[in-house]
Amino acid sequence: MSTPVEPRPVVVIGGGISGLTAAYRLTRASIPVHLVESADQLGGLGMGGEIGGIEIERFYHCVMPTDEHLLPLLDELGLHDSIRWQPTTMGMNVDGRRFPFNSAVDLLRFTPLRLAHRIRFGAVSLLLRRLGRGKDLDNTRTEDWLRGVYGPTVWERILKPLFGAKFGDAFGEVPARYLYQRLGRESNVATRGYPQGGYREIVERLRTAVESGGGRISCGVAVADVALDDDGARVRLATGEEIAALSVVSTVPIPLLRSLADERLRAELPRLRLDYQGVVNAVFLLDRPLDGHYWAPVINCDTDFDGVVEMSALTGTHRYGGRSLVYVMHYCGRNSPLFAESESEIARRWTAQLRALYPDRLTDTGAVEDVRVFKAPFVEPIPTLGYHERMPAARVGDTCVFLATTAQIYPDVTSWNSSVGLADRVVREVIDNRDSARRRTVVNA
Ligand SMILES: Cc1cc2nc3c(=O)[nH]c(=O)nc-3n(C[C@H](O)[C@H](O)[C@H](O)COP(=O)(O)OP(=O)(O)OC[C@H]3O[C@@H](n4cnc5c(N)ncnc54)[C@H](O)[C@@H]3O)c2cc1C
Repeated sequence: MSTPVEPRPVVVIGGGISGLTAAYRLTRASIPVHLVESADQLGGLGMGGEIGGIEIERFYHCVMPTDEHLLPLLDELGLHDSIRWQPTTMGMNVDGRRFPFNSAVDLLRFTPLRLAHRIRFGAVSLLLRRLGRGKDLDNTRTEDWLRGVYGPTVWERILKPLFGAKFGDAFGEVPARYLYQRLGRESNVATRGYPQGGYREIVERLRTAVESGGGRISCGVAVADVALDDDGARVRLATGEEIAALSVVSTVPIPLLRSLADERLRAELPRLRLDYQGVVNAVFLLDRPLDGHYWAPVINCDTDFDGVVEMSALTGTHRYGGRSLVYVMHYCGRNSPLFAESESEIARRWTAQLRALYPDRLTDTGAVEDVRVFKAPFVEPIPTLGYHERMPAARVGDTCVFLATTAQIYPDVTSWNSSVGLADRVVREVIDNRDSARRRTVVNA
């Protein structure tokens, strides 16, 4: 008697939220799946870290009430009630001074701009979504659009450093549609959410659902190469194990996939000249709160970092044993000297800079109980003009390889929400593709 041939699985590369969602959806559709994650834990950019013996996310994360894809997934996983919602506010640190930035009165008192500019800033901000409607913002440089509607002073003084923090010098070149979309997701006074079991609980629920549905997860082992074959693809792991795959869903940045692909697949991959933005961020455990603003950009304050996120303003301090948790961050390309610098040196310098920014709060040296630095070289690609037209499709040519990466999120903001929505779409295509291949086989038989 011959042994039955195991059906080829779909191999998912990467165990961040995109890969976990894709693996979960495939398992639910009774499709064999094998997820491979190179790091020693799942979660990708939402991965856990540790500070002062307390578990945290390495990079600040929050949920928005508008997260139309993530929230239903949390429902499915039985985690809907786990989100703690909290109104949050915004501050502004400019020229070494701190300002609340949440109301018309705050704006009127915002002295870094002259009164006439404050009024223009407020009026244009109220109208901005309407001003953008019907415009070809995908082919308009952000600088041209914002300079035009706000005037050169507001652009140079506030907007360029404020939004430029995300994309650095390239920000002016980014299509205005990106910012337009972002304004739809965020506002200064906003209700934000945080999962009470941390992001780890979401990851663990997904892992359990995949494994109990028969899916396989390999963690701590990298995919070393991907080669197309006549029945699908062969995925080789760094351990030497080779998986014959029905198809592949890659969630890693496209330049990384290119470096794993054989010649045939490489020829099919989208030829995008995209730079990726990375991030360096420090997490501080403080024995006291700062200003209580969730988010405060830092402009012209002699700091290397461009923003402060007071996480405990959203989560409460109980998670951290009554202490406050604060992230500071600088988005930059992976060629930035910060990526070569040691974590301890960055921690030392940024601690001094945080103290100088909040001299009235961080009065004594004991205020900073601990600091950790985390780096991520690939956070998201920097979109260029007309990117919407060039954005990669889910399927790579007519191969069995599918992409579910941050390069396909535009113009939405990259987030867990948009990754879940993308993974849902890509899995539908994987299933459609499998079904039409089966129909062809039946017709030919
Ligand atoms: C500082 C910061 C703040 C953020 N704030 C928020 C927020 O408030 N809210 C929000 O929703 N989102 C936020 N995000 C964005 C969010 O984290 C990302 O959009 C999302 O995590 C992307 O998920 P992903 O699965 O597509 O990619 P990733 O999380 O990058 O996952 C890709 C995975 O692939 C793995 N991998 C790479 N190479 C290989 C290989 N060869 N073999 C196997 N595996 C491999 C990586 O280890 C990684 O785990 C933030 C991100 C950052 C950096």
